[in-house]
Amino acid sequence: SALNGKKIQLLISDTGGGHRASAISIRDQISALDPSVSCDIVDVYTTYCKVFPFNSYPDLYKLMVTLFDGVLWKLFYEGGDTDPGLWFNQLLTETFCYSEFKKCLLRPGLNLDPSLKDGTEKYSVPEDGGRPADMYVSVHPLTQSLPLKILQETKVNSPFITVCTDLGSASQSWFDYRCDKIIVPTEVLREKAVRTCRKFMMRDSLMMTSTPKEYDTEKVEVIGLPIRSGFEPSKDKAEYKTDLNLDPSKPNVLIVGGGDGMGGIVETANACISSLNGLASVTVICGSNAEAKKNLEGLHGSNGDVLVTGYTPSMPSYMNSADLMVTKAGPGSIAEASVCGLPIIMYSFLPGQEEGNISLVEEEGWGKYVKDPAEIGRLAKVWLEDGEGIEKRKERARKGGRQEAARDIAKVLLEELELCS
Ligand code: UDP
Repeated sequence: SALNGKKIQLLISDTGGGHRASAISIRDQISALDPSVSCDIVDVYTTYCKVFPFNSYPDLYKLMVTLFDGVLWKLFYEGGDTDPGLWFNQLLTETFCYSEFKKCLLRPGLNLDPSLKDGTEKYSVPEDGGRPADMYVSVHPLTQSLPLKILQETKVNSPFITVCTDLGSASQSWFDYRCDKIIVPTEVLREKAVRTCRKFMMRDSLMMTSTPKEYDTEKVEVIGLPIRSGFEPSKDKAEYKTDLNLDPSKPNVLIVGGGDGMGGIVETANACISSLNGLASVTVICGSNAEAKKNLEGLHGSNGDVLVTGYTPSMPSYMNSADLMVTKAGPGSIAEASVCGLPIIMYSFLPGQEEGNISLVEEEGWGKYVKDPAEIGRLAKVWLEDGEGIEKRKERARKGGRQEAARDIAKVLLEELELCS
């Protein structure tokens, strides 16, 4: 292949499960399209940074989204998304993580060396810049600004592309006008990306740190949210149910709280089980929330209509066995449900970040946000009993589904790599 031996660094931070999942789906599709290109996924903050809080983002994120019902997260997220908030965060990251980020971006090979943690590894850049990696792809809102600055200062001219993995709303920090391309999943985010890039380009030209130009809106492309393969149904729903030992003659309600089983999953599951009372089977996926799993198993273990499980790699099978999903409004889960044609009731969301996901699904007419567990249980029953209504919702869900997004993104990345070679 013309791209033989090319290297791509995919930059993430493991806050939530979605960024790594999307990065993996892109890497897998690149390997399928051109096995001679190698990709490396790296959580820059935990692998390289030594200073708190930068080296503890994933744990802090988990803590903040659960503490005080998400209020702390809301303040942090909304404050950080203002122009002064962005500026301040960039200043701190630059002050405390500049040399660590530089080490990551400029390492000559792609494979992570365990000795990196103690900073003993050597890296070098040719005098004229050159290309330690042939392309950089950011799959996180906090791996844009500083990497772009470092690459510019070290004269590394490899293309830098952002793949945004939020859906209906996203922080401004995702969108940096210096990126060669920004790939977004929805029209709402395309508009936000263009607006944000224009604004900061204008600011920088007024501050004389860049020459005044019109932002090239063609740089922003709507493709879809990259998800793993296998969500597109390949057999009848009844078969998926039988495979999971569920009664194929009954509807099945799936309850999920993202990768971490968050946001009152126990109360929500209990309310649904009691409202549906044998009318439907109920499957609860607790993700990494071991306490919720233990609790629900203790309460419903002997009930033949209830299936409780912890983290599962078989999400496509679970989603395709379901007729309705009760879920946290996470972008990954919503994009996957859409491909499965699975209507949803959203019972929780991350303030700021996931609010737009709710409006998106409600506007498309295949899901609804309900907070109160008893009301969720009641609505699940009403929807399942209205056979025609649920079929319409399934159809509307399927309409926006884009199983092929990861493959299409991989194609764009390889095209860009070829153009810049
Ligand atoms: N997921 C999974 N197994 C589980 C629970 C969740 O594979 O047991 C996946 C789910 O399919 C989705 C991701 O975890 O891809 C959750 O992403 P989302 O954006 O919905 O929420 P997050 O956990 O990132 O807040």
